[in-house]
Amino acid sequence: MILIKGGRVIDPASGTDAPMDVWIDDGRIARVAPPSEEANRSKNGDAFDASGLVVAPGFIDLHCHLREPGQEISETIESGTRAAARGGFTAICCMPNTQPVNDNAAVTRSIVERAAAAGSVRVWPIGAASIGSQGEALAEIAGMQEAGIVAVSDDGKPVATAKLMRQVMDYCNSLGLPVIDHCEDRSLAAGGVMREGPRSIRLGLKGIPAESESICAGRDVEIAALTGARLHIAHLSTRASLDHVRAAKAKGLAVTCEVTPHHFTLIDEDVVYDTNYKMNPPLASRDDRDALLQGLAEDAVDAIATDHAPHHPASKDVEFDRAPFGITGFETALALGLAELVHTKRISLMRLVELFTTGPARVLGIERKLAAGSPADVTIFSTDLKWTFHAADSASRSRNTPFDGREFRGAPIAAIVAGRPVFHRGAAARA
Ligand SMILES: [Zn+2]
Ligand SMILES: [Zn+2]
Repeated sequence: MILIKGGRVIDPASGTDAPMDVWIDDGRIARVAPPSEEANRSKNGDAFDASGLVVAPGFIDLHCHLREPGQEISETIESGTRAAARGGFTAICCMPNTQPVNDNAAVTRSIVERAAAAGSVRVWPIGAASIGSQGEALAEIAGMQEAGIVAVSDDGKPVATAKLMRQVMDYCNSLGLPVIDHCEDRSLAAGGVMREGPRSIRLGLKGIPAESESICAGRDVEIAALTGARLHIAHLSTRASLDHVRAAKAKGLAVTCEVTPHHFTLIDEDVVYDTNYKMNPPLASRDDRDALLQGLAEDAVDAIATDHAPHHPASKDVEFDRAPFGITGFETALALGLAELVHTKRISLMRLVELFTTGPARVLGIERKLAAGSPADVTIFSTDLKWTFHAADSASRSRNTPFDGREFRGAPIAAIVAGRPVFHRGAAARA
C-alpha cells in the first residue's frame, strides 16, 4: 500500500481540484478521499508527502522518437524512458521511424519487450502506415496492432499520396486505430530548413512556407470526412492548420491535434544560426504562435506532445543546412507549459493537466483518471520550485535543445507507473 498524502489533486476527468489523499494498492488506485486523521496515523506501507504539490493522473506523451532499434548512439529505449520519467511522463508513444522502421509485428514486439525490460514508463509504439514509411504499400497494421501499437503514422514524412492516405484511414477505421499525421507538402518544403519569412531571408536560410503544413492538413481532414476515420494532426504549428481542425470538429469529425512546447514557446524570430533551432515543422510566425496559444486555451487543441527527437551531438554539430531536424523535449515540457501557459494566466492549471492527461488519452480512445480501480499511473509536480535545466544533466543520450540553461518555476517531482515510482526528484538528486 502506498499513500500519497496531502497533495492538491487535479483530475480533469472528474473536475476535481481539491486537497485529497490517494491510496494505491497492488498497482491500482484504491481510494481518493479528503485528507483524514486515518491517513495521518497510517503506518502501513509507504507514505509520500505531497503537501504543496499537485497530484495528477499520469502524463501521456503522444509523440516521441526513442531511436531504438538502429540509432542507439542518439537514444535507447532505456535512456529515453528515463528522460520521460524525469519529465513526469508515465506513458509515451514512440514513432516508427527507427532502423528498421516499425512496420511489422516483430519490430513492435521487440520495442515492447525492451521497454518492459527497461522498467520505467509505459511505451506504446506507433506503427508505420506504409512499408518502410516509403509511401507505397500498406504496412502490416493488423499484425502490429496485435503486438501492441496504439496508432499508425509515417511520421518524419507525410503519407505520400491522398490515395494511400485513404487506404490507411479505411483500414485503420476498421481496426479502431487513430491515424497520426505529419502534415507536410514535400514539394513546397523541399530544401527548406526554417519558416519562410523575413527572418529566413535575413539569415540566408531556405524557407518552408506555412502552407506546406496546412495544405496537407486540409487534404487529410477531407479524407477523414470521406472515410470517417480518426485523424490526429501531429505537431500542429500554423493558424491555417488549426482552422482546418476547428472546422472538422464543428462538423463532428473525429479530428484532433497536438501542439509541442517549442511551438508555443518560440517563434521564427527566435531562430539563430544554431542547429538546436532546427525542427520540423519549423518554428512558426508570431501570428501562428498566437493562434496556437488561443487553441490551447480553448478546446481546439487536444494535447501537448513533445516530439522528443534526440540527435547525437556529432550529427547536430554541422552547418544549419546539413543538420537533422528535431530537438529533445521530455524534461522541459511541463516546465514550459507552466511558464508559457499557466504562469502567464493564459490557461488554468486544470486545463494544462488536461492537455497532458485526459486530452491525449481521448486521442488514443482510452480513459485517464484518478479514481478507484484505475491503473495507479500518477504524476506529481510542483508549480513553483525554481530550477535550471542543464542539457548536460539530462537522462537522454542527446543534448539538442534550445532550452539549455533556461531557468524555470515548476517541475516534475515524481512519476508513478502501476503503483511503482519510476522517478522521484529528491531521489534523483541524491543518486
Ligand atoms: Zn513529424
Ligand atoms: Zn516526430
